[in-house]
Amino acid sequence: MSLSFTILASGSTGNAAVVASKEAAVLVDAGLSLRKIEALMAERNLSGADIDAVLVTHEHTDHIRGLGAFVRKYNVPVYANEKTLGALRRELADLDASLRRVLPTGGVLEIADLRVESYAVSHDAAEPVGYCFFAGGKKLAMATDLGYVSDKVIRRLADADVLVLEANHDVEMLRMGRYPWNVKRRILGDTGHLSNDAAGEALLRLLAGTTRRVYLAHLSLEHNLMDLAKLTVNRILEENGVTFRPEEFMLCETYPDRPTPWDDAGRPNGEAPALLPSPRLSGESPPG
Ligand SMILES: [Zn+2]
Ligand SMILES: [Zn+2]
Repeated sequence: MSLSFTILASGSTGNAAVVASKEAAVLVDAGLSLRKIEALMAERNLSGADIDAVLVTHEHTDHIRGLGAFVRKYNVPVYANEKTLGALRRELADLDASLRRVLPTGGVLEIADLRVESYAVSHDAAEPVGYCFFAGGKKLAMATDLGYVSDKVIRRLADADVLVLEANHDVEMLRMGRYPWNVKRRILGDTGHLSNDAAGEALLRLLAGTTRRVYLAHLSLEHNLMDLAKLTVNRILEENGVTFRPEEFMLCETYPDRPTPWDDAGRPNGEAPALLPSPRLSGESPPG
């Protein structure tokens, strides 16, 4: 297999994922403590030394909590756009300047056989992005921390073999919840987070393509439940006449505190996703 990934943790308590090709492995966000990230990686037979680069989506704490410590310990480059790097000045202050690398929004990065594309999302951060990954003819698209799914975002997510999509909250649970109104308004707004309904509606526009699995991600601990998110998404699909056989399409879970199984972006065949052999590791640094 040549494109695999595991979501180490997902949600407002911290986000991190590893995407690996045959020849490269990247960490996407480092939103937990270094120790936590290392422990979650170890559960998937990974070590920080396997990582070639860290990609940052945006500077919110749940995406960068362990970033400084991780990159200093493993001496790997951090890629983000200029504004995000600017917002991370403090976290990355004592990092060798050569390890702070600009990947402009909409830009492409190639690390050995792994291709990364960034795209803009609407979220209340300096210049937030999502990433798509390509290797071995497979595409993985990640979209969390966005207030709404624009046509542009739909085009970026289209034709992914696997999609990681935010289903942050149930709108009613959020409305009834204990958060102050201004915080609720922020979450519900155009630069906030996708609700379960918004995730379902986005999928309606995406599932005609090649997508075989969708991981529901970045669930709120306070205002959502995985079963409710799945029910809502399934209901929206069914109400619109979209039905799938399980061998064609699966909704998958992510967790705030444990990693998903390795997924090789292949066709579902009833087998557990294959385990990744330790990614190769040469000492050479990626281009760029
Ligand atoms: Zn977040
Ligand atoms: Zn955020």
